Amino acid sequence: MIEIYFLGTGGGAPSKRKLPAYLIRRNGFSALFDCGEGTQITMIDHGISIMSIKLIAITHLHADHVMGVPSIIQTMAMYSRTDKLYIMGPRKIQEFLKASFEGTYFCPSFPIEFIDQYEDNEITIRPFKTKHVIPSQGYIFQEKEKVNIDKERIQRDGIKDWRIIKDLKSGKEVKIGNRILRPEDYLIKKEGYKISYTGDTSGYDNVIKSVKDSDLLLHDSTFLDDINAEEYGHSTVSIAARIALDANVKRLGLIHISGRYENLCIFEEISRKIFEKSFVPKDLSYYLFR
Ligand SMILES: [Zn+2]
Ligand SMILES: [Zn+2]
Repeated sequence: MIEIYFLGTGGGAPSKRKLPAYLIRRNGFSALFDCGEGTQITMIDHGISIMSIKLIAITHLHADHVMGVPSIIQTMAMYSRTDKLYIMGPRKIQEFLKASFEGTYFCPSFPIEFIDQYEDNEITIRPFKTKHVIPSQGYIFQEKEKVNIDKERIQRDGIKDWRIIKDLKSGKEVKIGNRILRPEDYLIKKEGYKISYTGDTSGYDNVIKSVKDSDLLLHDSTFLDDINAEEYGHSTVSIAARIALDANVKRLGLIHISGRYENLCIFEEISRKIFEKSFVPKDLSYYLFR
């Protein structure tokens, strides 16, 4: 199961919506995407563990996306964290954290490793280039293909020896007498889920290419269409919807909505005319993939 928590869906300055922060949890693995000021308070207030965060991925160095990082790291140290923390982001993130640690006389009690992309046996997290007013990147959280044994077929063919099943699952052919069992006949492959997060971006071809076929796309939708969003390095709701359509995603979450807007129904109304499966997540709501 994958859980995506919308901790802060606003942008720019704090409003009724909190500053950007999105947590993805899967099988005990937690990754935090952006960490605006106050993110740790939101998490602690709602019983979401900050200690289990294994990776923090920052889209860019604007204050609304990054100011929560030094404080969340200091809290982890205060709670005697020893596990390594991975950090991804534009190169300046390293300088920013170093300066903030020095400036606050803080030295982390646990290892911090800056990485360009993350991979384990089950998932990958990789960045893609976005188009904002400063260096920026979005992220793709991708589950690897899952391979399961076709239990029905195994039963039908009367295979009971677990060693044979194990070999088939690991992709080996098995010979029984003069019969050959081929793994492709006994395995069911299921593609993993793909979740994409743009952070702040204007409409940009590389976003369409990178987020193609995502199961969920969280796209900058800072303004309604009466503003030239590109001038500020952002997208309007219609641009976000068109990108979702062109990229053939399954669902679009409209995020980073400017505090100037009270009525958010209008965002969904406009977006759904272009891309039907759009929604505006509320702060502290979540989305599940089973
Ligand atoms: Zn922002
Ligand atoms: Zn920004």
